[in-house]
Amino acid sequence: MLYFYSEFIVYPLAGSVSFTNQCEKTTKQDVFIENAPISYTIIIGDFVMKDFLIVGCGLYGATMAERVREAGYSCMILEKREHIAGNAYTQEVDGIHVHRYGAHIFHTSDPQIWRFVGRFAEFNRFTNCPLANYHGEIYNLPFNMNTFNRLWGVTTPAQARELIARQRREGATETPCNLEEQAISLVGPEIYAKFIKGYTQKQWGRPCDELPAFIIRRIPVRFTYDNNYFDDRWQGIPERGYTAMVAAMIKGIPLRLSVDYLADRAFWDQQARHIIYTGPIDAFFDHRLGMLEYRSLHFETERLEIVDYQGNAVVNYTDVETPYTRILEHKHFLFGQQDHTIITREYGREWSLGSEPFYPVNDVRNNALYECYAALAANVPNVSFGGRLAEYRYYDMHKVIAAALERSTPAALAALLSRGAGGK
Ligand SMILES: Cc1cc2nc3c(=O)[nH]c(=O)nc-3n(C[C@H](O)[C@H](O)[C@H](O)COP(=O)(O)OP(=O)(O)OC[C@H]3O[C@@H](n4cnc5c(N)ncnc54)[C@H](O)[C@@H]3O)c2cc1C
Repeated sequence: MLYFYSEFIVYPLAGSVSFTNQCEKTTKQDVFIENAPISYTIIIGDFVMKDFLIVGCGLYGATMAERVREAGYSCMILEKREHIAGNAYTQEVDGIHVHRYGAHIFHTSDPQIWRFVGRFAEFNRFTNCPLANYHGEIYNLPFNMNTFNRLWGVTTPAQARELIARQRREGATETPCNLEEQAISLVGPEIYAKFIKGYTQKQWGRPCDELPAFIIRRIPVRFTYDNNYFDDRWQGIPERGYTAMVAAMIKGIPLRLSVDYLADRAFWDQQARHIIYTGPIDAFFDHRLGMLEYRSLHFETERLEIVDYQGNAVVNYTDVETPYTRILEHKHFLFGQQDHTIITREYGREWSLGSEPFYPVNDVRNNALYECYAALAANVPNVSFGGRLAEYRYYDMHKVIAAALERSTPAALAALLSRGAGGK
């Protein structure tokens, strides 16, 4: 049967954006990365059944696609957004790579993962050193000797340890039963009041004494003058952005943008022997057991005709009066020298179906519901589920890539194909 459809193949090329007419009909699409070395080829013609259909072109889907291609299988990718790279997406605007879904800093201690991403991108030496702005006072994060010196004037680790230990003792609760009690028992009331209370309330939309303790399991406290947020051996930002990195990963693989797999599932299930699904797991099952809850974010991005707005990539606003949780200044991720700058104010938001799901609410109810969906998923032979939405968990980028690599060895892919053929 002849199906008319358009299929995007991403070919990283040197230099410019171009459209290649490979078939009888070529449609121009909006280019989503300005000046990026990517072209979109749109093929119209017969569908050829693929080995794998990958739903979602975030880092999980892109890693799976890359491995599938390397193992010699055929695949295609569907992505419901109009761009690739999922939440790691960076959009180049007038020479500045804008992190559209919040600040994304790559970090890992796993040499295999660092080597893997290094095949697709050159990383710069960016080190995440966020700042806290509390009513105009600037402090270093994560909490370290610079923070303690500014807070209390202490200069030695011993003094800081002693002060925090005393404050913790005074404020401690035997069994913390909400986030406020939990945070105070970890770092004491003063750090809690200045840096955690307002920020967390804005992020989650509820006072900290109404939030469950599990949200904060540990609070990193460092007794050295080290402002580096991550302990990992490697960190950085892809020099040409995450979008270009993902484009390089999926080079040559057919990709369809702005296509929701769930809107025409019966059709798409016919197109491949096995589906790798990276969307929300409850949506896959039409929410039949109930809705998994998320916390959402809202971003306001602004271009300013000044060289530098805040002198740092990320500044957290930790008081409750400032309505946003943080401001990103995107040029600092890549040490940009432009005459202008682009900033994004980030706000915590309620989530409802249709808004962007950012943080899973991993409380008892939602985790139990997720387990029920995971049990249903285990019984769908021709579909495997992976990534932050399908596994309902917060996943850092290096972890999501590691999970995908682990599940896409040649033996694992062969096993997926033998599990059952889709749509037959
Ligand atoms: C605010 C924020 C900041 C973060 N910062 C960092 C950081 O600094 N460092 C770090 O390591 N990690 C960070 N992360 C985590 C990072 O975003 C995730 O690791 C990564 O996005 C997970 O990739 P994924 O492929 O699982 O999901 P996603 O990136 O969400 O990709 C899934 C894709 O599937 C698509 N999709 C869903 N349903 C369908 C459907 N029905 N049909 C077609 N397509 C579909 C979606 O549109 C999406 O593009 C951050 C997360 C957040 C929320």
